Amino acid sequence: MIVEIDQKSGFCFGVLNAIGKAEETLATEAVLYSLGQIVHNELEVKRLQETGLITISHKEFFQLKDCKVLIRAHGEPPSTYEYAAKNNITLIDATCPVVLKLQQRVKTSAEKMRSENGQVVIFGHLGHAEITGLVGQTNNEAIVIEHSADLKKIDPTRPVVVFSQTTKSVDEFKKLTENIQSQSPNGVMKAHDTICRQVSNRVPHLQKFATRFDVVIFVGGQRSSNAKVLFDVCKKSNERSYFVSSPEDLRADWFSGIETVGVCGATSTPQWLMEKIAGKIDEI
Ligand code: SF4
Repeated sequence: MIVEIDQKSGFCFGVLNAIGKAEETLATEAVLYSLGQIVHNELEVKRLQETGLITISHKEFFQLKDCKVLIRAHGEPPSTYEYAAKNNITLIDATCPVVLKLQQRVKTSAEKMRSENGQVVIFGHLGHAEITGLVGQTNNEAIVIEHSADLKKIDPTRPVVVFSQTTKSVDEFKKLTENIQSQSPNGVMKAHDTICRQVSNRVPHLQKFATRFDVVIFVGGQRSSNAKVLFDVCKKSNERSYFVSSPEDLRADWFSGIETVGVCGATSTPQWLMEKIAGKIDEI
């Protein structure tokens, strides 16, 4: 059986930067707190935990003082920075530059919309850390749209500016903006496709990659948003695509009678994990 790992899968620069900052700090510190999981990959989190990285919740963060806390690539709302400044918390800020730029754009738009009686709309998952960070730039005034049922939250008589969470699908964002426009044909709507190309550029590549193999094994964390998007791409191109998070998820019957297997993953999937999974497939 031939097993090939996709050379374009694996960490994006935002995640690499966050992990690099954590490792650099832990080279001289015994403990570093990470506000939320540093990456949506349970096994990578476990690996870093063994070097001293402790994942904390927001509730735990707001009880801390006099320590170092890492802000992951997803970014944080202003309230996190304000609390840190008042409580002698040194922030190791690993907010991805792409997210940072988006936060600034959302903040500027919110100020403009406030003066024009308009609305800021963000397409994304309510409760996702990046969305919490973005909504925080608008004094929590932004409307988050997760599904088409949420469209009723938008007032069609007022101007609208739309942004997207960086890891959403380009096609779904396009559909959403068309729906907003059709809800208010004469209304003013400005759409900013702020999807990160580190994710969307992988779509055409994965479409081709997935068709080259009898079976595709997609490696991703259960809580990773971009893993869901990219796995769907593989599944649409190759029905025999399977989502796994660890070598233990592999099932021998997936490989019975087949000759080629492609292993790929998300922007939050470590290279070492794809290699470990490819090795386990080789042994089947
Ligand atoms: S997917 Fe894009 S926005 Fe998100 S961390 Fe990676 S580079 Fe940054």
